[in-house]
Amino acid sequence: MFDYHVHTRLCNHAEGVMSDFVLRAIEIGLKEICFLDHLTLQDQGKELSMTPGEVPMYFQAVQVLKKKFADRIDVKAGLEIDFSETHADMAADIVNTYSFDVIGGSVHFPEGFDVVRRSSTWGNKGDYTDEDVNRVYSRYYETMSRMLDYDYFDILCHFDLAKKFGRKPSRSFDNEIIEILRKVKQKDLTLELNTSGYAHPAGESYPAPDIIKKCSDFGIRFVLGSDAHDPKSVGRYFDKAIRLLEEAGCKKIVSFSGRKKCVIPIDF
Ligand SMILES: [Zn+2]
Ligand SMILES: [Zn+2]
Repeated sequence: MFDYHVHTRLCNHAEGVMSDFVLRAIEIGLKEICFLDHLTLQDQGKELSMTPGEVPMYFQAVQVLKKKFADRIDVKAGLEIDFSETHADMAADIVNTYSFDVIGGSVHFPEGFDVVRRSSTWGNKGDYTDEDVNRVYSRYYETMSRMLDYDYFDILCHFDLAKKFGRKPSRSFDNEIIEILRKVKQKDLTLELNTSGYAHPAGESYPAPDIIKKCSDFGIRFVLGSDAHDPKSVGRYFDKAIRLLEEAGCKKIVSFSGRKKCVIPIDF
């Protein structure tokens, strides 16, 4: 199995040295590990990310590990880019300057609203009416839909992240979700099955099982990602993720090399 989403200390909110992430991946029998560390170009949230100036060093550090561990595991280099419409060209420039294996697109701050940090009102005890919650979900999916008008990324990360702190909408967002999945299919993008949600108040994968089923019906494929911010979280909950894929009828998963997709049968 492969873990396509692990972080490094460059993002200022992860622990452990990069080689320990790789060693943990080897220890649990993974065949590939992909560093997908944060790149946030807008001001909001940039303290949770490497700076653009650190990208060359980060890329180089992954190349060193790739060589060092070549006979034991395939180490890949990627970025998790926070969507910002005003920085999309800059993001494209950065990704085109290096030979990354894969680029992830994420929405952490839809229209400036923080859905990711525990310290935000969304994460904290902030009071939200049903209507407020629905509005946040609307914003979130609208932003994700706009992100899909750009072409600098390969993977859509943690599809339904808005549920992270357990706040659920009171109306169905099926129409918005279907519209996004249509775009994903049209652009031949890959979704991430991110297992970090099991450790969050959400208590389930991103995306939720019913969305995984919809993806399967659309023929959309997944990469697996733990979103590990420390070495011991590499590959966490992958047994659950594989069961979900199996139940949804997904028989193949995806890996990337030089931003080219490779479709591989899952050995359940
Ligand atoms: Zn993070
Ligand atoms: Zn993220």
